[in-house]
Amino acid sequence: MQAIVDFIKQTFNTQEFIPLHEPRFIGNEKKYLNDCIDSTFVSSVGKYVDTFEKEFAKTVGSKYAIATVNGTAALHISLILAGVKRDDEVITQPLTFIATCNAISYIGAKPIFVDVDLDTMGLSPKSLEAFLSANCEIAKSTCRNKTTDKIIKACVPMHTFGHPCRIDELKRICDEWHIALVEDAAESLGSYYKNKHTGTFGKVGAFSFNGNKIITSGGGGVIVTDDEALAKRAKHLTTTAKIPHPYEYVHDEIGYNYRLPNINAALLVAQLEQLKKFLVSKRALAEEYETFFSASENAQFIKEPQESNSNYWLQAVLLKDKDNRNEFLKFTNANGVMTRPIWRLMNELQMFQDCQCTSLDNAKYLEERVVNIPSSVRT
Ligand SMILES: *Cc1c(COP(=O)(O)O)cnc(C)c1O
Repeated sequence: MQAIVDFIKQTFNTQEFIPLHEPRFIGNEKKYLNDCIDSTFVSSVGKYVDTFEKEFAKTVGSKYAIATVNGTAALHISLILAGVKRDDEVITQPLTFIATCNAISYIGAKPIFVDVDLDTMGLSPKSLEAFLSANCEIAKSTCRNKTTDKIIKACVPMHTFGHPCRIDELKRICDEWHIALVEDAAESLGSYYKNKHTGTFGKVGAFSFNGNKIITSGGGGVIVTDDEALAKRAKHLTTTAKIPHPYEYVHDEIGYNYRLPNINAALLVAQLEQLKKFLVSKRALAEEYETFFSASENAQFIKEPQESNSNYWLQAVLLKDKDNRNEFLKFTNANGVMTRPIWRLMNELQMFQDCQCTSLDNAKYLEERVVNIPSSVRT
């Protein structure tokens, strides 16, 4: 374990504490922030929001992008756009960040947990198909869960740590079962599956720009879609459902104050300009880790899945012996190298213990063994 700590310190060229993931502001960040402050347009409107939305849509290859205050808000609105209503059910993976399940819960809908694939750490098409065949029927062009007598409205796969899941197969199954596909692409800006950007396979996709993500606006998120009507509705819902007017305040439904402030967008426009550079740096780090860990008896570096191009947002290793995990975490953190276990399974949290699940053997296997290691862009 000392060898791992030494290697990581050498890789990051420092003897100081090495965090898991730090942001890098090495481009036009200060310039755009100053310009934004000088303009006084720091809040609900401004050119940086418009520029960001245009540039982001171009980057991922979607027709529309709608900036939001954070990734959770982007997911919440995405689920509403997909038609999810109170008492509906939404399929997702147990191995994800809490935001996925929180967004489902805000609507009053309930998650169903389906197992992940070992190689992608994302929702398994095989498990999904098996669950649907065993439990569901198509009635009036909707997917009815015979066990609960509820409608399964949407399915939310997540691209864990930036590694794409088998999203085209998931889409095929969702289409067949009349389930809307909503991608939680919060972690996967810059990741492609079969040369198509993650987040653009489903009806809607959501990204996050939290401080620890590959690019950041402090806090922020975005919704992407190719559907013009959904894009308009996303803008409307995220801006308090206010009918555009120069001075009158009229709102036509209960909306949300989920817009991204222009000052955050200024930071984000500058960050987006750095994305290519960040991706190159992360891939180079992944290659160094892979070489180092190929000689390790305790830990195996987790590589991008086949037919994918991962952003390698958070680098991760799979510990061969799960009983080593706590010792590994304790030793590295005590010696100045931050590491962190993958999330606890969502179905084991108190709020989601009564949710329907498939067998979750793969998710459990990964939960007990996967650890994130320092992943910042090196400068
Ligand atoms: C970061 C993240 C989100 C959104 O988080 P915010 O902090 O609200 O921007 C959603 N899902 C996953 C899987 C994430 O990692």
